[in-house]
Amino acid sequence: MGRHILFKCPRTGMNVQHWLDETNGNGDKAESVYKSVDCPACTLAHFVHRKTGKLLGEE
Ligand SMILES: [Zn+2]
Repeated sequence: MGRHILFKCPRTGMNVQHWLDETNGNGDKAESVYKSVDCPACTLAHFVHRKTGKLLGEE
């Protein structure tokens, strides 16, 4: 299970696609809702919200 998300790299302005693994249920409550994603555009990591697909700090 998982889903495809699209986010905009804040450094390069490029749209980046990423497959986000879904981790619903069991004992996952303490885990951050933000997932670290390796960005192919700038090679750094961004934090993406698991539910909304938005970047950390983005409105
Ligand atoms: Zn990036």
